[in-house]
Amino acid sequence: MEPQCKKRKTRTLGTFTWEVMPVLSDEKLCEVELVEAFAAPIINKKQTSYLIKQLASLYPLNNLPHIKRVRTCRDKSDHPLEIIICLLRDIPNRKLSLSDLFREGKADGIGLGEPFQVKIPAYQPLTRFQFETASQHWPTTFRENKQVTDALQGHLFNTEEKAKMQTFMEKAIEVANFGKKMGMEPVGAVIVNPATDEIVAVGHDCRNGPNPLLHAVMVCIDLVAYGQGGGAFNHNKYPYCYFKTVESFPGDYAINIGKSLLPSDDRSLRGTTVNGLPYICTGYDLYVSREPCVMCAMALVHSRIRRVFYATPSPDGALGTKYKIHTKKDLNHHYDVFKGLMEDECQFLLS
Ligand SMILES: [Zn+2]
Repeated sequence: MEPQCKKRKTRTLGTFTWEVMPVLSDEKLCEVELVEAFAAPIINKKQTSYLIKQLASLYPLNNLPHIKRVRTCRDKSDHPLEIIICLLRDIPNRKLSLSDLFREGKADGIGLGEPFQVKIPAYQPLTRFQFETASQHWPTTFRENKQVTDALQGHLFNTEEKAKMQTFMEKAIEVANFGKKMGMEPVGAVIVNPATDEIVAVGHDCRNGPNPLLHAVMVCIDLVAYGQGGGAFNHNKYPYCYFKTVESFPGDYAINIGKSLLPSDDRSLRGTTVNGLPYICTGYDLYVSREPCVMCAMALVHSRIRRVFYATPSPDGALGTKYKIHTKKDLNHHYDVFKGLMEDECQFLLS
């Protein structure tokens, strides 16, 4: 008996069998896109501000506000600075000589050397990796989002936070198993108020009952609504789904704590519902064993969830697999999504 006991897996603080990864927008993950431009050496440094002014009116580079017009010359040449003249596509025959520029009659080009072609970043870098790559081509501005950098390096959550996250996902797995025993899809979800670490609602998938829309996430959102005096579905037949009555709305407080991968203006409490109260899930986190579908992902947009943690991807998943609903620019609410939390355990749940 003794050795059996010793073999039992003990989890010491700081070791987890899983790793969460942020599900970032395609823009954040993509390689730096480059666009061809003409640049020229500034032979006479004293002409710099004059040249900047002239070129800015001649070729304003409207869609490239992130590009620094002038860079210090990197190789040991006879000129100290180089300046972007225009994009290649601004010039009809894609060839530019100084005489072309002069013939326009708008610029005199005094102090410029012979133009050369260069590739410059087409968009402002969103991640440190993109910034470093972009800067190798031409200097750009970059407002680093530390959260994104941390996330990409896997430094986003500390041990204490991970332990909490695991507890909530364990709850989701537990309720998924209860649902499974009732003949439901083995999916469980938990909604948490991260300001207090309180569970606000727990639900399993009920779609195999009379209402095919009762996916675990929909059940949970509805239960949160019940906790706030609303709610629409009848959960009487599902004793393992429950909610906690909330007296005060946590949104104002919760929105200011914790971590976000988006600039704060992107995720502010933009408006309230008709009755003047914040949207149902404002400031809350969702833990769900399987990646939500499009309906559930949109329901989370409508109810203003703050963060979603899921364990395993779904073939039709809308938060990373097929779509990234949480990053859609055209939608008026965005939330952070993380995947991989207890992935093995949740995959086992589905088998
Ligand atoms: Zn769904």
